[in-house]
Amino acid sequence: MNDCLIIGGGVIGLSLAYELARGGQSVTVIDRGPPAREASWAGAGILPPANASAAQNGYEQLAALSCEMHPRWAADLREATGIDNGYRCCGGIYLARSRAEADVLAQQAAAWRKRKIACEQLDAASLARYEPALRTAESADAAPILAAYRLGDEAQLRNPRHLHALLAACQRFGVDVRAGVECTALETRGDRVTGKVTGVITNVGTLSAETYCVASGAWTGGLLRPFGIRVAVKPIRGQIVLFRTPAPILRHVVNDGLRYLVPRDDGRLLAGSTEEDVGFDPRNTAAGVQGLIELATSLAPSLANATVERTWAGLRPATSDGLPLIGRMPGVTNAFCAAGHFRSGLQLSPATAVVLARLIRGEDPQIDLAQMRLDRPTHADGEPIDG
Ligand SMILES: Cc1cc2nc3c(=O)[nH]c(=O)nc-3n(C[C@H](O)[C@H](O)[C@H](O)COP(=O)(O)OP(=O)(O)OC[C@H]3O[C@@H](n4cnc5c(N)ncnc54)[C@H](O)[C@@H]3O)c2cc1C
Repeated sequence: MNDCLIIGGGVIGLSLAYELARGGQSVTVIDRGPPAREASWAGAGILPPANASAAQNGYEQLAALSCEMHPRWAADLREATGIDNGYRCCGGIYLARSRAEADVLAQQAAAWRKRKIACEQLDAASLARYEPALRTAESADAAPILAAYRLGDEAQLRNPRHLHALLAACQRFGVDVRAGVECTALETRGDRVTGKVTGVITNVGTLSAETYCVASGAWTGGLLRPFGIRVAVKPIRGQIVLFRTPAPILRHVVNDGLRYLVPRDDGRLLAGSTEEDVGFDPRNTAAGVQGLIELATSLAPSLANATVERTWAGLRPATSDGLPLIGRMPGVTNAFCAAGHFRSGLQLSPATAVVLARLIRGEDPQIDLAQMRLDRPTHADGEPIDG
């Protein structure tokens, strides 16, 4: 019998499998589809900065630990697999194009400074120096940029490559990754204090291990329901448009409210993303794509001439109170969950894996997970907030 069985082969499940397996555990990952697709593949790979010395709570500690770990994981994965996951500290620029947005951004800048995140306010000349392709002057078809800040420590990774590297590393460390295996329920035995999960029921029969972890992204809610967890998990669709230019036209991630442009080194550039509460509907829509093309060309007019290489959409796992679910499942001693990372799953994945691996091994997680525990009370139908 394996030490751990993980349900879900997205970035959260694969990161946990990698962490456990290189620590010597035998691990199986099951995925109802091909692994390394879904939200984790669809994401933009933005890694906002964080600072451990100013972290005010467990969630911020998790973000700070992840921030420290990403460059190390990128190097370890490259050494183990030869795959470069595209991690680089490219910096991020945050823009406001209305008075109201400028006020919100000024408050955000104060919050960054309080959390000891280096933040530089830019005037029009310095913005043009950093990013000459951005439209800084007023024009008939685009609102002018009224305020801009630069976070030099913002980073990015190319998530499809990161997942490819994680999968290869998992294979190298002996993880059994099984595609096309769908879990429909967890089988339990015993009372609510000493109870145990004895197996997971799947389309290929019941599979057993010493410990279990549910990491099934936006699809997690149904598996958690029998455990009386009140925090709901639901999908929030995000669409992306991928542009291609002969050479990169931007260096920084450019953030405009909740939307952004992410330049890759090879001239590709992602424009994202929508935030749509439309259930499990993974389509691109005309309005979604049109809005993103307008965003991109209003910020960087030369993109009007770029090739639109591809569009896609993914389903972010959002919780009803905006915080991920990380910890032990209530009423059982040997099953855990890591899900609901909403807009931040790529960012938070290494620390989530390390903390959960400690819990699974019976160690102190070294991060206060109280905010993220599965049996926390919640206001049932609150809107997810941006993590
Ligand atoms: C457009 C977009 C942009 C984003 N940008 C960023 C970003 O810039 N930075 C960032 O940090 N995050 C970003 N995110 C969020 C991030 O992608 C997610 O938080 C993260 O991928 C969630 O990972 P996951 O492993 O929990 O879920 P997923 O990647 O969705 O993986 C869950 C897996 O579980 C499997 N599964 C589901 N149910 C079952 C079952 N019953 N049995 C077996 N397998 C099952 C699924 O097939 C899937 O493979 C973005 C997301 C989107 C959609």
